Amino acid sequence: MSNQHAKPPITTTNAGAPASSDEYSLTVGPGGPNLLQDTYLNEKLAHFVRERIPDRVYHVKGGGAFGYFEVTADVSQWTKAAFLNNVGKRTPLFLRFSIVAADEGAPDTDRDVRGVAIKFYTEEGNYDIVGNNTPIFFVRDPMKFPDFIHSQLRLPDTGMRSNNMQWDFWSLTPESAHQVTYLMGDRGTPRTWRHMNGYASSTYMWVNAAGERFWVKYHFKAEQGVQNFNDAEAKAMFVEDLDYHRRDLWNAIARKDYPAWRLEMQIMPFEDAANYRFNPFDLTKVWPHKDYPLIPIGRMVLDRNPDNFFAQVTQVAFEVSNFVPGIGPSPDRMVLGRLFAYGDSARYRNGPNYAQLPINRPINEVHNYNRDGPMRFHHSGNQPVYAPNSYGGPRADPQRYGDPSWFVEAAEIMRTANVAHKDDNDFIQPGTLYREVMSPTDRDHLVSNIVGHMSQGVESFIQERAVKSYWSPVDADLGARVAKGLGLTITA
Ligand code: NDP
Repeated sequence: MSNQHAKPPITTTNAGAPASSDEYSLTVGPGGPNLLQDTYLNEKLAHFVRERIPDRVYHVKGGGAFGYFEVTADVSQWTKAAFLNNVGKRTPLFLRFSIVAADEGAPDTDRDVRGVAIKFYTEEGNYDIVGNNTPIFFVRDPMKFPDFIHSQLRLPDTGMRSNNMQWDFWSLTPESAHQVTYLMGDRGTPRTWRHMNGYASSTYMWVNAAGERFWVKYHFKAEQGVQNFNDAEAKAMFVEDLDYHRRDLWNAIARKDYPAWRLEMQIMPFEDAANYRFNPFDLTKVWPHKDYPLIPIGRMVLDRNPDNFFAQVTQVAFEVSNFVPGIGPSPDRMVLGRLFAYGDSARYRNGPNYAQLPINRPINEVHNYNRDGPMRFHHSGNQPVYAPNSYGGPRADPQRYGDPSWFVEAAEIMRTANVAHKDDNDFIQPGTLYREVMSPTDRDHLVSNIVGHMSQGVESFIQERAVKSYWSPVDADLGARVAKGLGLTITA
């Protein structure tokens, strides 16, 4: 907010004319009726009821900050992306953290996945990474995505959230077991946004200047370290501070304690994908570090709070489809489905000219034949409105900027799973997480969190199915412990 001692400006109407009063409406005498000719009051009330734009359907509640990305290693052997082409090069960015199922006003520390969405303002256009604080996801096909989100939101009749609905969906969706193991562990309740890692999660393509292609995964490792609340601590924070994560990030930046993340990449040679032991484009799986070790390439720092929450955190539009030359999608079905949905969401929420808003517009110039529409305010003047033309309109350069591509074998059009690799099994990786990565305390918390969550309104047939065909295949000991905690007599 501006200096409270400075002389304030005169209040005006939206058209700029001085307003007569901030306090009193226009009436007939002190006790008489209000007058329709009070145009300033009419405008004030009419504007007030239009202050909101549609919420995101999920990732509603969040917070964000500006910062920069700095390259720390030469990556030219893998990508020609201009913003990554020099050690020491800095690119400005805006990052939004969010919580998936919470509405605005819900507690920040609820058990959930967190969104980590980054917009890099590069010299070759905006590059967006729209990821989470988990390296995997609940489903691997976009067809199931709205169903998954519906199961996390609210029941049609009561308008309340329902653990029964969540466990019904999960226990009928075995590919969710890896992500649910992650979610029910203490990483499902991060201490702050500063103390969690970010992952693009999906696999993307990098292309170097010679046209060689690589499959890549992005890992943003918190320099603050990973810290989580246990279930009781996360719930205690509901009472103390509903906005704990939003406040923590704001306060850290305000006191110049700038949070930072190292960007580490997993890089798979293009040819490895076909014969890898599982589908490397399956979003429910990680690439084990011993197969594809992490390669540090940069550092992201958040060092400036927003000036206006609505104009920046609310109106920002992240798009999975925002790539720059040298970076592209992969055959991951979730990426391909998301290429469409994010721009469409932005058009719905902000209108078709959302990319002209200051938070969304690129730092380089935009030249194309998209025209007009609601609230268009930047236009290209008297330039040709069609291509091809003889009058100097923009021209694409396909030689220089071709689309990243991969070879697709001729096959019949169908709807089916892609699980042809030998380890395309939904339970191997969550089993490894449970047995080999989690500490005994992590495992105890996982069991008590699952039992606590499944004890709240989940019907017994769903509990039984979750034990028999979900947790027991992940790990027999885990299945038995969950069954015992729920008081079920069944075993695997
Ligand atoms: P590693 O032992 O090399 O990696 C295990 C990784 O798990 C750690 O590096 C850490 O990743 C993460 N981790 C540590 N504690 C927890 C926890 N309590 N809950 C969730 N994740 C934790 O083995 P692999 O690469 O072979 O992976 C084994 C399993 O680890 C996977 O099945 C997966 O469940 C999990 N994992 C793997 C990641 C990967 O990209 N390979 C990333 C994260 C988890 P980080 O530093 O990213 O936090």
